[in-house]
Amino acid sequence: MIKLFDPWKGGFCTCLPKYTLNPYTGCNHRCLYCYITSYIKDAFRLRLKRINFKGLEKKIKGLKKDIPFSLSNSSDPYPLVEEKLGITRKVLEILKKDGFKVSIITKSALVLKDLDIMKDMKATISFTITTPDDEMARKLEPHAPPPSMRINAIKEISRYNIPVCLRIDPVIPFVNDKIDVIDDFLKEVSPYIKMVSVSTYKARPDNFKRLSGMFKEVKRIKFEKKKIRGYRYIEREIRHGILLKIKEVVKNHNLKFGLCREGFDDLKDTLSCDPIFEHFE
Ligand code: SF4
Repeated sequence: MIKLFDPWKGGFCTCLPKYTLNPYTGCNHRCLYCYITSYIKDAFRLRLKRINFKGLEKKIKGLKKDIPFSLSNSSDPYPLVEEKLGITRKVLEILKKDGFKVSIITKSALVLKDLDIMKDMKATISFTITTPDDEMARKLEPHAPPPSMRINAIKEISRYNIPVCLRIDPVIPFVNDKIDVIDDFLKEVSPYIKMVSVSTYKARPDNFKRLSGMFKEVKRIKFEKKKIRGYRYIEREIRHGILLKIKEVVKNHNLKFGLCREGFDDLKDTLSCDPIFEHFE
């Protein structure tokens, strides 16, 4: 259940060691660009895990405390059922008791219900928002909570002294890469966040089919001929250009700029995309 996070076996991922724990299997947000459908069977069907909490308590005793936990990397730790079941909440309580650092990645405002636990532990929250436009998000991430709710949640979290990172992931040419939209969006959220992490769209046959079925323009994206770890990257120069423009607006808003699996050391000013490494040693 607990694994060391290394999705690319030392490839473009620049994160320091972290443990990954998925309280749920699969994810029913059904984002068109989702990567998990290429490696998890029936990935858009959310399954509950039978977590043995006593076993988890024992297991973490043998782990290194300076290595943070990431919740989650192949699912959202806050699906709707979490409100009733509180599985992520229980996991957080256990990790907190042993003094572990935790990095949450979510698209759900349900994270608010656990701020009482997180407020005095070493925790960061990364909110993925690919577009501030609820209508576009309904097409792109049909079952995820609307971005307007996520933005309100970010504002609420800022009252708790918990570092928040905005994750614009993925940036998809012709779909959500308009720089004036990103700039306006940052104007609204920059007072409430510490960092922006960005990653460009990486195509796999299944996510490309879903995405180009909804957004025909995606067929015009120019990809590298050679795949990297099974993913088709946008052509290097185009990718660099997109990221540079976004970095400029991010810096105009006095925020740190992180990259996820891009390989452009000249652009990023954080070690990785994960705020946990920026805020807690
Ligand atoms: S929230 Fe993440 S894991 Fe869930 S469907 Fe969307 S991209 Fe996939």
